Amino acid sequence: MPNSGSAHGRRACVGSTARVVSDSRFLEEALNSWNPWRGCRPFSLGCLNCFVMSADYHPYYDEPSAFSLSESYLLPLERHFHGEKAGKWRMQDDGRWVITCYASEFLLEEADKYRPAVWRAMSLRHDLRFMIIVKRIHRLPQCLPEDWGEGYDNVALACSVEDQRAADERLPLLAQAVVKHKMIVAEPLLSPINLRPHLAAVKPERLTVGGESGPSARVCCLEWVLDLHRQSLDYKVPFWFKQTGSNFVDETGQKVEVHRSRQSSLASDYELNNLTL
Ligand code: SF4
Repeated sequence: MPNSGSAHGRRACVGSTARVVSDSRFLEEALNSWNPWRGCRPFSLGCLNCFVMSADYHPYYDEPSAFSLSESYLLPLERHFHGEKAGKWRMQDDGRWVITCYASEFLLEEADKYRPAVWRAMSLRHDLRFMIIVKRIHRLPQCLPEDWGEGYDNVALACSVEDQRAADERLPLLAQAVVKHKMIVAEPLLSPINLRPHLAAVKPERLTVGGESGPSARVCCLEWVLDLHRQSLDYKVPFWFKQTGSNFVDETGQKVEVHRSRQSSLASDYELNNLTL
């Protein structure tokens, strides 16, 4: 695939002598998570290689996809019992978003009776910022808490889309949603996507883009990422190229296998990230 003339001025580092540029701010943000439950069911093409369904990710469960509450169900409301920190919250605000329900889907039907307590925890912990990433956004209206009003100040809803069809089905629902903070996540990016009408309607606070990881990862092309980056600039949407995925087609048109540990830094090396627009 040809170089499509991007903001990045240099070739990606893909060889054994490649320079790895680490952007700790973005990496740290991606690592802060709270998983009230685990297990899921596939919903769309983007779920095909979901790590949540993998026996490698849940080695102690016979059925990796089976729904169950996790030990950290109400983690934000837990306090230390002993020592110097006795009485203090176990989860402290460190300025990062708390990625909520990263090991499942927040709007899964199986979680309906457990979700009200999770909303309550988010409401009580208004000193923390929670980011929820969903595909089943059609279920949002029936899943909101009674005191939601115009939305909680400290909760962001990110809608995940992997291709044009997903974007056209889900993002009009995100545009209509009564939520204080809206984001779009194009990950795993499986094809080019025209987000222009949706960026105009949703006005997201952030567009995150990434490829797919794992041994069966589908291809993600830099050309698709650059196109989304151009769209984000046109609509003044902060952009984060989170990671390349395992099976990346770079600006030379070469397919590159990228180890999990290098996917974020390689993406960062393209210098497309801009969260301060
Ligand atoms: S909805 Fe999310 S967590 Fe569930 S299978 Fe799909 S990608 Fe995985």
